[in-house]
This record gives sequence, C-alpha cells and structure tokens, in this order.
Amino acid sequence: MIKIDKEKCIGCGSCEAVCREVFGMKDGKAFVKAQKKLPCVQEAVDICPTSAITK
Ligand code: SF4
Repeated sequence: MIKIDKEKCIGCGSCEAVCREVFGMKDGKAFVKAQKKLPCVQEAVDICPTSAITK
C-alpha cells in the first residue's frame, strides 16, 4: 500500500511529476490518487526529498 506521510511532505510536486497516474497534489500536499503498482512509484519514493512516500 502506497502511503504519504503528510507531516513530512513539503509539497514539492516531484512525485506527481514523475508518476501522475498515482500521485496528485491538493492543498499543498501530495495524495495517492490510485493504488497502482507502477515502476514510477519507486521513482517517486527515490526522488522525494523528505522520504515521505512508503510502499
Ligand atoms: S515528492 Fe515527497 S515532498 Fe514532494 S510532494 Fe511528493 S510526497 Fe511531498
């Protein structure tokens, strides 16, 4: 299950930029749009500057 720690998220938008099918932005924070097992989810985990995404 893909999760975003909203306390850690700084709203940079990188996860959405690399994996638009799974991540969206709302009120300055990222949220999970759909629990899809796509390779780009790992890219988002790797790119997140605050390690807010877990899967
Ligand atoms: S990459 Fe990380 S810090 Fe940036 S919006 Fe996504 S979850 Fe938040």
